[in-house]
Amino acid sequence: MTVVFMHHDVIDASKSPKSGFYGAGAEVYKVTLARFREQIAGLAAAFPGKVPALEADAPFALTFDDGGLSATEVVAEALAERGWKAHFFVTTGLLGMPGFVSVSGLRTLVAHGHTVGTHTVTHPHRLQALPYPHIVREWQDSRARLADLLGRPVVCGSVPGGYCNRAVRRAAAQAGLSLLFTSEPTIRRYESDGVTVWGRFAVLGRDPAESAVRIAQRASARGVRALRWQALGVAKNALGPAYPALREGLLRLRA
Ligand SMILES: [Zn+2]
Repeated sequence: MTVVFMHHDVIDASKSPKSGFYGAGAEVYKVTLARFREQIAGLAAAFPGKVPALEADAPFALTFDDGGLSATEVVAEALAERGWKAHFFVTTGLLGMPGFVSVSGLRTLVAHGHTVGTHTVTHPHRLQALPYPHIVREWQDSRARLADLLGRPVVCGSVPGGYCNRAVRRAAAQAGLSLLFTSEPTIRRYESDGVTVWGRFAVLGRDPAESAVRIAQRASARGVRALRWQALGVAKNALGPAYPALREGLLRLRA
């Protein structure tokens, strides 16, 4: 059972203290480099010889949303120390903007074996509530831009805000995507409306490093049916409108 983790920015204050979105609750998703190193060291120790991947026998996979500058300046370096690969989902309308990855940075990620996917053009707060043609354009224009810049097809995306309804899935399929990642904290995946949908577990800055290991170990040991997840009562004002759907998706493993 592959647990897919959802990171955002990993902050190395000495390099790029500003990366990705700020305000409106975005900060809770930023993990320090020290904590991130602990997390991946813990995963490496818990699963000797395994590397992050979406293959069936991989215990975990790593994804990074938004396209913040830390993807290229911090995350890629930390992963390179282990030879690990990840998926990076990029908000294409912000490419090259302050705090976000550049086109050359994206190409470097791909050259190093990482996968780049779309996180829409404008990162709408409620993608699922937009008119259907607008949702299609968010996926299509972003995907086309990435494919053009990278010279290869782009088949995967992650949903800004994390919530995925039928229109979001159908629009993604219509735009040519086949893999769609949400923020639903589950290892269950399903085919619907022309795409394969994968849930993911959000990693927050305040999470202890070992929580990622515990989630992956339990999923690996017990399989999907025996897992018990419990919603964490997150204060409504803890997360702002930038991530409204994630608030609902913040779950924790039952002790
Ligand atoms: Zn996002």
